[in-house]
Amino acid sequence: MKLKILFVSAEVHPFAKTGGLADVSGALPPALYKLGHDIRVIMPKYSCTSKAGKKMQPLQVDLELPGFSQKGTLFQSELNDSVPVYLIEHDGYYNREHIYGEPGSDYPDSLERFAYFCRAILEAAKKLDFKPDIIHCNDWHTGLIPVYLKTDPWFSQTKTLFSIHNLGYQGNFPYSQLVTTGLDESLFREEGIEFYGQISFIKGGLIFADILTTVSPAYSKEIQTPELGFGMEGILQKRSNQLHGILNGVDYTVWNPETDPLIPTRYGPQSLSRKKQCREDLVKMFSLRLNKRTPILCMITRLSEQKGIDLLMQARGALDEQDIALLILGTGETRYESFLQQWSQDRPDRIATALMFDEPLGHRILAGSDMLLMPSSYEPCGLTQMYALKYGTVPIVRDIGGLKNSIQEFSDKTGKGTGFKFKVPKAKYFLKSLQKALSCFNQTATWKKLMLNGMAKDNSWEVSAKQYSRLYQKSLRS
Ligand code: ADP
Repeated sequence: MKLKILFVSAEVHPFAKTGGLADVSGALPPALYKLGHDIRVIMPKYSCTSKAGKKMQPLQVDLELPGFSQKGTLFQSELNDSVPVYLIEHDGYYNREHIYGEPGSDYPDSLERFAYFCRAILEAAKKLDFKPDIIHCNDWHTGLIPVYLKTDPWFSQTKTLFSIHNLGYQGNFPYSQLVTTGLDESLFREEGIEFYGQISFIKGGLIFADILTTVSPAYSKEIQTPELGFGMEGILQKRSNQLHGILNGVDYTVWNPETDPLIPTRYGPQSLSRKKQCREDLVKMFSLRLNKRTPILCMITRLSEQKGIDLLMQARGALDEQDIALLILGTGETRYESFLQQWSQDRPDRIATALMFDEPLGHRILAGSDMLLMPSSYEPCGLTQMYALKYGTVPIVRDIGGLKNSIQEFSDKTGKGTGFKFKVPKAKYFLKSLQKALSCFNQTATWKKLMLNGMAKDNSWEVSAKQYSRLYQKSLRS
């Protein structure tokens, strides 16, 4: 059945991106469109959005909402020449240098910015006369949508699906700001949006959405435990029948070394030797001094606790003794940035850091490296490891969340598997896994087999989009 779907996200590639949420929001809607749905995307219009090189049409739509300063308006653009994208312009809230705030922190008026976002979306749907069968909400920024919807008769037939991309970010704010949301005091209770005395946006989604999803089967189980539930495990256990884990896919129109315009030399499984030229590009760019068989390891990541930078810090001494080079592209918490900066200053020939968000550089690093490190403390899905597979860059990852579901341990006996995994988040186990990888790297034929295993993996969005489609239909029957 063809459905009308409104897909709501705070970031959508290529309009705005800080992480994987943007990649999902830029790729899943076109995959759903291909299945025949009338899907439209809606997001804020940030200052970076205009740099995306996409045409934007202003629409004659006023988004004036009681209790919020100034009024917003709507622009229209599109994804993949097929999916309409609406962008909410509100200069006071979104026309700023960063999407959420300085890397590693949030703007102090985050509640107001995203409460407005949630309400403006509903207002926009009405003004566009687009009555969706389903609103697909993503992460905490959209958590109040299912709450507002409950009291709005215009949406009485509309169902909601809330996707958890990262439970570690909840949008929790002081109770004193409740008035800004315009929500009734009675919702500030345990079975509502109250979370240990605070207002919690994500809880709005977890309690009030008809269906819940998260981005990998393993993470859907992990968030129901006290270790990784961030205090929400009780609610998620209660709603476990409505909670589904769907692994994210890869947009191979963006992430494919055979067609990628952002890398210096294109290569594929039939022309693997050309990957060397991408390696040379990195050696030159970062002035590395390597032996012919020194592997280049990389990380392309937000520098947050989640990403296991502490583990890297603990392993530094042992890593310094290895014949390896390490490139890190990332932004985030100052303590991690300072550590990495110092490390690269101490060992400029082997350790290089680019403390910035740079999408084209991410492609070049992935293409020219031999291995990708993702020692995450938790990982809802993780996309970079799936991109790495396609680029013949072997992932060494923590055996958790989406990393568990997307990477299979390599065995040099059977020749099966795509990477290396370690379970216990301690430097010694991480290093053991790395050691295994390094010894395979020294066996040229074995390593080639391993690279080709990864490159042959098909993680395209089609399969996951069908799973979402089935859940939308299910919600309409409930
Ligand atoms: P998360 O969503 O937790 O940040 P993912 O692995 O799911 O992690 O997605 C991260 C996305 O952001 C990938 O597309 C990755 O290439 C990109 N990325 C992360 N940091 C940077 C950076 N500093 N520069 C460029 N791209 C980055």
